[in-house]
Amino acid sequence: TRTRIAAGNWKMNGTAADLAEVEAIAATGARTSEVVTLLCLPATLIDRARGYGVSLGGQTLHAATSGAHTGDISGQMLVDAGATYVIVGHSERRTDHGESDADICAQAEAAWAAGLTAVICIGETEAQYRAGETLDVLRGQIEGSVPQGATPGNTVIAYEPVWAIGTGLTPEVPEIQSVHAEVRAALGAHVHGGETLSVLYGGSVKAANAVGIFALDDVDGGLVGGASLKAADFVPVIEALA
Ligand code: 13P
Repeated sequence: TRTRIAAGNWKMNGTAADLAEVEAIAATGARTSEVVTLLCLPATLIDRARGYGVSLGGQTLHAATSGAHTGDISGQMLVDAGATYVIVGHSERRTDHGESDADICAQAEAAWAAGLTAVICIGETEAQYRAGETLDVLRGQIEGSVPQGATPGNTVIAYEPVWAIGTGLTPEVPEIQSVHAEVRAALGAHVHGGETLSVLYGGSVKAANAVGIFALDDVDGGLVGGASLKAADFVPVIEALA
């Protein structure tokens, strides 16, 4: 059976004042042991969030292990801070930092080399969605950014339609299921055993829609932005998965 993961992506939000939210989220995570509760925090908070009992992740890493890369962070640094996961290829990294599929593939391999599980993000833009290109885009991203060697132990996939991120919009629930089924098939075609990877949905997940989305056969959890920042919002999302 595939691992079910309630993942929060705090993006560029959070300071020490927000550690109380981490603690409250972790307390729920501990009660729902059949679900992995994961918080991908700003790098400055990862070490300080240790010990609450929630899984911790970074939001990006450099493909190199060390060296002259001002402002970047390595997989080993994330592990040193207490992370066991790292997001790679989020659409905001692809857009803000021009990261390509090849960059993301290299980052995922760097994550593995450091002992991290890579949460590899894929998703179509609104223009691609409107043009009916969703499945072609996702297949291309899977082929380009998911390394050979991906296993359920080292890789999680997150499908995030770019037009659903932070907009309050989501695909219709049956559409999420059909896209996830296609993603799973494409993963199986690309990587031996790829159909067994956990595939999370992301994009405007909140308490009100989580139950319906998480009930879908090919959805193994969520990657949640805005609704993961406060325990009052994220706890019901975790409970929807449990
Ligand atoms: P929102 O949940 O705020 O739409 O963000 C989704 C996301 O990008 C998570 O990585």
